[in-house]
Amino acid sequence: MVERLSGVLGQERAVNLLRRYLAANAVPHGLLFSGEEGVGKEKAARAFAAALLCRKPGEDGACGDCHDCRLFSSSSHPNYLHIAPETDFLKIAEIRALQEELSLKAFSDRPRVAVLCPADRMTPQAANALLKTLEEPPPETHLLLVAHRIAGMMPTIVSRCQKVPFFPLPPDVAAGILARHPDAGAGYAPGVIRLACSVSGGSPGRALALLPGLSEERDRWLSLFVKLSPKEAVDLAETFKGDGDGPERLAAPLSLARDLALLSSGGGTDIMNDDLREPLLAAAARPPAGGWDTALRALLEISRMPPQPQKRLMLEAFFFGLRKKG
Ligand SMILES: [Zn+2]
Repeated sequence: MVERLSGVLGQERAVNLLRRYLAANAVPHGLLFSGEEGVGKEKAARAFAAALLCRKPGEDGACGDCHDCRLFSSSSHPNYLHIAPETDFLKIAEIRALQEELSLKAFSDRPRVAVLCPADRMTPQAANALLKTLEEPPPETHLLLVAHRIAGMMPTIVSRCQKVPFFPLPPDVAAGILARHPDAGAGYAPGVIRLACSVSGGSPGRALALLPGLSEERDRWLSLFVKLSPKEAVDLAETFKGDGDGPERLAAPLSLARDLALLSSGGGTDIMNDDLREPLLAAAARPPAGGWDTALRALLEISRMPPQPQKRLMLEAFFFGLRKKG
């Protein structure tokens, strides 16, 4: 199926800008889709490319059933080029091949569209070559550059393109997108999805990649908090490296400890891990020696420390202190 602009969720400003270009029939030769990784830039670039190639585009971009849309959705449109690096960086040979292709007569009477992704990973030679094409673009050609980090790009390339900025999404919007995602919604609990979205900094794509690890981590910590087993505490303590690891390692236990502190104080209408309410209620009724609010405060303090040997020691102290009352 061909991508539509309405399929790009939570990025109204970018999508409206693209719609205006289409409606005015004034699409720049160079467009730069910029923003965090995993927030919808590449999806938007593909939807926009499809709209440019479509013979009967509408408000939402490509029609989906003309000859060009069918060619596009089967990845065989002769006027569409997708340029991705073979290794880490786009090299001059890949840009030369693009230029060569653009210099030939087009097979179709539609415009020519190339998506370069990621355009912020390019050797200086490749960037210089691309700059020439942006300065003197062949007629009826559009280059859609997708970049996660504009700061890493050659300023002259950036200034030759019209910007289409993308922004991190609020965690609840990102969670809504993931809940409907075929790979995420089906297999993961809403609590894990919410957790992944808050850890990812509003990037559904990054959250998707975090889901398996976070899900496993949450199960492990839940088991520890329910049983308060010294053996499990030691095993879990051993998974932390010499410097105590980065802050994201503590996202799962923090969300669980927050829920436990809420539940044990009689609150808890809005807990993050609602799918685990039963085992959490059981654990809330059997708190560790200092209570769940103390455990939460200790974890919060540790999570704010940058990775360093001291952090690992504090984590060990936390695990030793996590024992049954009395
Ligand atoms: Zn069409």
